[in-house]
Amino acid sequence: MTMQTKSADVVACRQARKTYGSGEATVVAVDRVSADFAAGEFTAVMGPSGSGKTTLLHLLAGLDTPTEGSVSIAGIPLAGLDDRALTDLRRDHVGFIFQAFNLLPTLTAEQNIVLPLRLAGRRVDTARLRAVTEQLRIADRLRHRPAQLSGGQQQRVAVARALLARPSVVFADEPTGALDIATGRGLLAGLRDAARRDGQTIIMVTHDPGAATYADRVLVLADGAIRDELHAPSREAILAATATATATATATAVRP
Ligand code: ADP
Ligand code: MG
Repeated sequence: MTMQTKSADVVACRQARKTYGSGEATVVAVDRVSADFAAGEFTAVMGPSGSGKTTLLHLLAGLDTPTEGSVSIAGIPLAGLDDRALTDLRRDHVGFIFQAFNLLPTLTAEQNIVLPLRLAGRRVDTARLRAVTEQLRIADRLRHRPAQLSGGQQQRVAVARALLARPSVVFADEPTGALDIATGRGLLAGLRDAARRDGQTIIMVTHDPGAATYADRVLVLADGAIRDELHAPSREAILAATATATATATATAVRP
C-alpha cells in the first residue's frame, strides 16, 4: 500500500488519530481516519455531537496536530513543517469560515474581506473582489461596519474573506448554523459555485441534512471514525445515514 496521495487530492489524511488526556481518562476524538479530498470536490462532514467533526476539520486544516497518522495539504505532509512553514502553507492554500463570524468591528466589510491579503502583503484583485461580493449579494454593503449588517450579511462577508484569495481549500464549521434558511441556502450555493466554477475544494461540517445536499459527498462520523460515505445523496439518504450513526454511536449525542 502506498502512503502517497494522488496529485489531484488537495487534502488527504492517513490513519489520522487524535486523543485527549491519558490513561483511563483518554478520549479518542478522531480514530484512524483516512480520506482524500480532490480538487473542486465539496464534502460535507456529518455525525452526532461529539463524533469528532470539529477535531477532524482542525486536523485537516493544520490547526491541530494528529496524535498518530498523517495529514497533507497540496501534497505537502504537515508533519515535516515548522510553525513558519505551516503558517505559509495555510496562507497560500487554506481559507476558513467559522461559525462565529470573527469580523473585526472597527473595520468595514471590505476592509475585513481584504485583511488576510493585506496582512500577507499580497495584492488585492479588485475584479475578483467585485465578482465574489456580487455573487454573495454584499457588493452594496462594503462600506458598512459589521454592526450595521444583518447576521446573514456578516456571515457572507466572512465567506467573501475566505474565498477572495482563491485558496485551494476552504474549511467551514457549521457555516449556516446562525442563518435563516434562505440566507443559508444562498451561502451554500456560493460554496458550491466556488467548487464547481473555481475548482476550490470545500470541506464543511454541518448537522443540517438540507445543507449537506449541496455537497458532492457526505462523510458520516460516529465515535471519531467514518461510519458511512454517500455520493450526491438525497436528503432522505442523509437522514437515514445520520440516524443510523447516531443510534450506533457510543458517544452521547447532547447538543449544546
Ligand atoms: P463534534 O464537532 O462532532 O461535536 P468534537 O470534535 O468537538 O466533536 O469532539 C470530539 C470528542 O473529543 C468529544 O468527546 C469531545 O468532548 C472531545 N474533545 C474535543 N476537544 C477536546 C479537548 N480540547 N480536550 C478534551 N476533549 C476534547
Ligand atoms: Mg463541532
